Amino acid sequence: MSNRSKQFVFIPFCLIAQAYQAQGIVKYEWKSSIKPVIQLLIDNDINIVQMPCAESLFKNSLIREPKGISKYDTEEFNIHCENLAEEVAKQIRIICNSGYETIAVLGIEQSPSCCVNYIYTNHGMEKRKGLFMDKLSKKIEDLNIPIIGINRKYVHKSLKELEDVIKNSKR
Ligand code: SF4
Repeated sequence: MSNRSKQFVFIPFCLIAQAYQAQGIVKYEWKSSIKPVIQLLIDNDINIVQMPCAESLFKNSLIREPKGISKYDTEEFNIHCENLAEEVAKQIRIICNSGYETIAVLGIEQSPSCCVNYIYTNHGMEKRKGLFMDKLSKKIEDLNIPIIGINRKYVHKSLKELEDVIKNSKR
């Protein structure tokens, strides 16, 4: 008898490995995983899939200064994000075609690559998606998967959004 969970959540690489974030960004109480989010997924027996970290793969290093969207929005970085988004969208469709369910994709607010609502611009915040997340969301638009931006400063608000998605999923 198979006892596996058929539910998945796709997370940004750094949600369970904050060492991947730019220098000076990891300043909340969690040193590695953003624990409340991961704990919620574990407690609900949801399979967790780590999406690739666009920025560290592009830089070939974990060490980089925080940069706003204008520094990342180059042709080369956009092509890189397009290729990564294509791979992730393929993984999500395989799950779907196997009769399993991706109940949410998570982003990290403020990230020039992975934010969902608010992006860091070097002059403050702007309302738009990150370069990777924008491409991924367009590729999976037809699947109507909720995309939730995890805001580390107001994590309880993000948790509430995720809890509602979990409650409303087929369990
Ligand atoms: S690019 Fe995405 S996965 Fe990588 S550190 Fe930034 S938010 Fe996290």
